Amino acid sequence: MDIEVNDVLVMKKAHPCGSQKLCVLRAGADFKLKCLNCGREFMTPRTKIERKIKRIEK
Ligand SMILES: [Zn+2]
Repeated sequence: MDIEVNDVLVMKKAHPCGSQKLCVLRAGADFKLKCLNCGREFMTPRTKIERKIKRIEK
């Protein structure tokens, strides 16, 4: 899956705040993601996040 910094990931499951959109701050073996609604930032392994992505907006 081709994911780059500044892409917006639309997730299958919403964040606890209700938003499905996450911005990619850092890409690699681990991703740093920021929720576009509540602004929370978190790290997650690539293998874990890829399964949850519905689509990628460039
Ligand atoms: Zn959120």
